Amino acid sequence: MSTLRAIFFDLDDTLYSTSEFAERARRNSVEAMIKMGLRADPAVLAAELGEVVEEFSSNYERHFDQLLRRLPRRLYRGVNPAIIVAAGVAAYHDTKFRYLCPYEDAYEALRELARTELVRGVITAGLAVKQAEKLVRLRIAPLLSPGAIFISDQLGVNKPNVKMYQRACSDLNLKPAETMYVGDNAAMDIDPPKRIGMQTVHVVRGGKHAGEGAECAPDWTVGNFWELLDVLRDHLGVAMPPRTAEGGPEQHAHQASGTDRGVA
Ligand SMILES: [Mg+2]
Repeated sequence: MSTLRAIFFDLDDTLYSTSEFAERARRNSVEAMIKMGLRADPAVLAAELGEVVEEFSSNYERHFDQLLRRLPRRLYRGVNPAIIVAAGVAAYHDTKFRYLCPYEDAYEALRELARTELVRGVITAGLAVKQAEKLVRLRIAPLLSPGAIFISDQLGVNKPNVKMYQRACSDLNLKPAETMYVGDNAAMDIDPPKRIGMQTVHVVRGGKHAGEGAECAPDWTVGNFWELLDVLRDHLGVAMPPRTAEGGPEQHAHQASGTDRGVA
């Protein structure tokens, strides 16, 4: 009988590839802006957009307006700049509707975990509206325990503050030792939960935080979620129902109707 009662996940670059998605979305956006009449090199524009996101944060809502303001006006002479901005925004949203999907193994593992007794949650840093939209679009929300989603914006506490993790445990009436946290960023996802006594799993897929070390060693390091299931079954005694043969989430294409304009 396992003593583990809950498993919490980081969202960005743990359940889906934020970095890969953001890169693709930005590339599609700058290409759409060029098509609409912006006379600039796509690589230069993409780099400039990367700087805007860095300087104004990923949650800023007018990246494309700022991108255009940084460029000489002659590069879009004769074209209404609002149309160029709209092309960038629309392409970004189109990319989101078409390509935002979870890591296949993460989705499959969550489906398996949904058939166990474990509470399944997310502890994530970001704006509530954006993080919630990701969970819905990734089709992960239905696989989670509804009361186990914790977003920094809603808590008034952000990573790496240990209070974020303490809050998740106390809200669900769990001792930290009965819980596990799974994340890709050692400093944000391993050190704080480990400090309050949660069990920790570092997922290292070669994402942007892969090389950064933690002060605390994680209890386990895995390369994907199949290995995570092995840890749960073999080391923690979680009773796992036999694996299903069904496929992962379908890629989905919807009509664009978003209003937020932030990048990633
Ligand atoms: Mg992350």
